[in-house]
Amino acid sequence: MHWLAACRFVRALAVLIAGGSLLCPRVFADSSYYRHVIFDNSQSSDVYWYSTAQAVAPSVLVQKDRRLPVESRIFLTPPNALRLEWQSQQGGGWDAEVHLVDFRNRFPELQGKNLYLWCFAPDGIAAADLPELVLSNAQEGLQVAQFPGSFTAPEPLGKFSGDIPAGRWIQVRIPLAELHTDSVYAFHPESLQSVIFHQGRADGARHTLIIDDFRLDEDPALNVGGKAIVLPAPQHIRATGYDRHIVVQWEADETAAPARFVIFRSLDGGPFQPIGIQLPDIHRYSDFLGKSNVKATYRVIAEDWQNNRSAPSPTASAATRVLTDDELLTMLQEASFQYYWEGADPHSGMARENIPGDDRIVATGASGMGICALIVGVDRHFITRDQGVERLNKIVFFLEKAQRYHGAWSHYMNGATGRTMPVFGMFDNGGDLVETSFLMQGLLTARQYFNRPNERERDLNRRITQLWETVEWDWYRDSPQRDFLFWHWSPQWSWQIHHPLIGFNEVMVTYLLAIASPTHGVPAEMYYSGWASQAQGALDYRQGWSGTTDGNHYANGHTYFGIKLDVGSGTGGPLFYTHYSFLGFDPHALHDRYTASYFENNRNIALINRAYCTANPKHYPGYGANTWGLTASDTPEGYEASAPDEADDHGTIALTGALASFPYTPEASMEAFKHYYRDLGGDLWGIYGPRDAYTPTPGATWVSPIYMGLNQAPIVVMVENYRTGLLWKTFMANPEIAAVQKKLDVATKN
Ligand code: CA
Repeated sequence: MHWLAACRFVRALAVLIAGGSLLCPRVFADSSYYRHVIFDNSQSSDVYWYSTAQAVAPSVLVQKDRRLPVESRIFLTPPNALRLEWQSQQGGGWDAEVHLVDFRNRFPELQGKNLYLWCFAPDGIAAADLPELVLSNAQEGLQVAQFPGSFTAPEPLGKFSGDIPAGRWIQVRIPLAELHTDSVYAFHPESLQSVIFHQGRADGARHTLIIDDFRLDEDPALNVGGKAIVLPAPQHIRATGYDRHIVVQWEADETAAPARFVIFRSLDGGPFQPIGIQLPDIHRYSDFLGKSNVKATYRVIAEDWQNNRSAPSPTASAATRVLTDDELLTMLQEASFQYYWEGADPHSGMARENIPGDDRIVATGASGMGICALIVGVDRHFITRDQGVERLNKIVFFLEKAQRYHGAWSHYMNGATGRTMPVFGMFDNGGDLVETSFLMQGLLTARQYFNRPNERERDLNRRITQLWETVEWDWYRDSPQRDFLFWHWSPQWSWQIHHPLIGFNEVMVTYLLAIASPTHGVPAEMYYSGWASQAQGALDYRQGWSGTTDGNHYANGHTYFGIKLDVGSGTGGPLFYTHYSFLGFDPHALHDRYTASYFENNRNIALINRAYCTANPKHYPGYGANTWGLTASDTPEGYEASAPDEADDHGTIALTGALASFPYTPEASMEAFKHYYRDLGGDLWGIYGPRDAYTPTPGATWVSPIYMGLNQAPIVVMVENYRTGLLWKTFMANPEIAAVQKKLDVATKN
């Protein structure tokens, strides 16, 4: 198996088998927002990544890198809109396609019988001179030919909008029933992927149309009983200044279901300007100002889909100020921690797979990592100890009731019901031992941390022990003679997936916990027969992981960029190999036949990764000593594992790569952090800290629209391990865990 295929299998399995406020829980509604919204704002301010633009001479369409330019001065919702600027000529043509943002796990069905979009023409445009409009079920727009892609017959936009007056926003309503397929297949509006504008009447004149806020929806039903619903003003606004950004928070009564919040800012006593929006249910906004010592004042309004607004909130002010390195790290940890605190699933307290994403899905492994982040949150007083215990209780209660398979939980569950969600396909409907081990690493750290002699913590302790001792690690050996542990088991499909756990990758902690289990343990010899196996099957399994045979025997021994690597595939593989298993398990305390220290080995993997990105053999603009860290993340092509080798470097930098490597490479990680935050924070810094990933190519920058549960917590936790060693000390203090290296030493001698 190709290494990347193996690795994606490792992380995702998808590839092979499928295929509140701090005080009260909120109901997240990302999914309902994104079941209507087609476009609200562009994340980057130059071009809109999720668009295409092209023209055939002599017609003209203004474009940048074959994408639509972003308009940042005129918009309906701040901070931007899209700019259509064209000249339609006889014999030529042009088309501009606005695509749905296809973030991970976006619910695939849109809802509504009308397409709404807002238009603004600085000089006014007659209906007859407006472009034609086509909708498509595919991202490829007009060129699609394959089922289920289809497209509608062109209709003049002017038919629905009439003349567009100069200098005024007009909402256009397009009843979908009036559009008809022009493809050989039916057009399904719920599967809408692209809104396409193309050349209409060739009038030879230059026109500019600013377009914003596309959504699918029903007819407005705001006037109930003849009375307009009045949105209450947000209250209790607060602002907190950091190095280059200010966080604004507020409270809001959402009974009247606002469409969004709009944030306004005043600088130096000037007028309030709209700067951004926030989704319903999220009452926090991160304003990146780009400089220290800037004072700003904020207020927030609630708004409905017809742009009716509440009264403004009271105002709040703060100033940015230069933070010390230590303060910067606390800022980084607190922002990323919020993913697991404020952003958690409200029913279960578990971590969501990605935000925005599918609200129903909670992720087992990410939740274990999130538990470690919650511990950091308590220890650094982001939340109180009582709040931490309460959240842990909620999580443990959920895990006690959730579906289990010989003690293991599924990779994904429904946060409201605890039922398995086979996100990766029909075979993946059982236990996932690797995800379970990431969860258990977090739970055991919590058991050791929350051990004060009071009833609540004692109860939590007892219940975590019960969960830990009922995971049947030995069952996942398939049979008592097997050399390997297996990743999955399902009551319906049994061992159908049959994916053995073989290192070096992120599953090390699965073997360490299986060896540690006091009730369903496996012999320490399985570390060598399974994880670090030299059997032919294991060599075949590792074959080509990195595009080379280096590391096929688990041990490596080669030198890269002057750095010798004891263990690892190729140049070390993606950096999450050195993060997930070591959030709790202290790599200083781990050695085997092949290396004297996994801390040193992990550090070398991080150093090689950085040296590779600095050397940048594939010549991606933007890589360098402060832009490095190839690992698994969101990419323009979806979730991928990137690594420092020819085959696995696709030009995407995941911010967690360098930031979760702080214990290994503190200076280099700090350099990357300051670059991502101070230089690029306008694109890369948001309410949960660093965005998942980006492609640093200037002029064609893609920035991930999501944060991921697997990537934010390792930042919080590994920065803490660098600063105080808290999670390492706490997890290793579990007596079962303290005994693992001794068991391993015996196996090493045998
Ligand atoms: Ca907008």
